Amino acid sequence: MNVILDKVSCTRLPRKPMSSGDWTKILARKLPLILSWIDATVAEHHSLATPVADLDLPHLSRYFPSKLLRQTTAVHLTEQLPLPPLNEIGLDEFSPSKEQHTYEATTYGETIFLQEGHVSEVLYFHELVHVIQWKRLGKEPFLVTYIAGLLEHGYEDNPLEEIAFSLQEKFRQGDLPADLTEIIHKHTDSIWQNTAQSYHLV
Ligand SMILES: [Zn+2]
Repeated sequence: MNVILDKVSCTRLPRKPMSSGDWTKILARKLPLILSWIDATVAEHHSLATPVADLDLPHLSRYFPSKLLRQTTAVHLTEQLPLPPLNEIGLDEFSPSKEQHTYEATTYGETIFLQEGHVSEVLYFHELVHVIQWKRLGKEPFLVTYIAGLLEHGYEDNPLEEIAFSLQEKFRQGDLPADLTEIIHKHTDSIWQNTAQSYHLV
C-alpha cells in the first residue's frame, strides 16, 4: 500500500517505539480491517485496470519480467487516490493531515493507482518495486513491515521506500544492475527478517 503512499507531501509520521505487545494488538485488530479495505478497493476499480504491459512504457521491459508487467495493472484516476480510512479504523496517528493529501501513486498488491497528470515511467518503476516487495512477502507481512518502517524511520527513510527511491534514481540514470528482481528480493527478505525479529513475529 503504498500503504504505499508515494509522494505524500510533507507527511511526517510520528516516530515512537512500539512494544511487541502494541504490535500484537495492531495485528489482531487493525490489519484485517486494512486488508478488507484494500481488497474492496481493488475490486471496485477492477473495470478501470489496465495491464502495465499494455501501456507505452518501453524502458520497463528491460528491467522487469514480462510476466510481472502483464500481471500488474494500473488504474488512472482524476480524483484523489484511495487511501485506507485510517481514522475510522482507529489508526489516527498514521493518517496524514487533511491538507497534506497530495500524492501521485499508491500500490495495493498488483494494482497501481496513479493520479492523471503525474504519470511517468520513473513513477511506474518505483511502484513496480513495491509490487515485487509485496509479492515477495505476501500482503500481511508486507503491511506489517511497511508500517513498522514508517514508525521507526518515517516515510522516505522507510527501508521499503528507501530502496525504491534508490533504484529509481539508478533507473533514471540508466545504471541498473541486470539482476534487479533478485536484488529487490534479497533486500526485502532482509527487511522482513529485521522486522520479524524486532517485534517477535516469528
Ligand atoms: Zn514508494
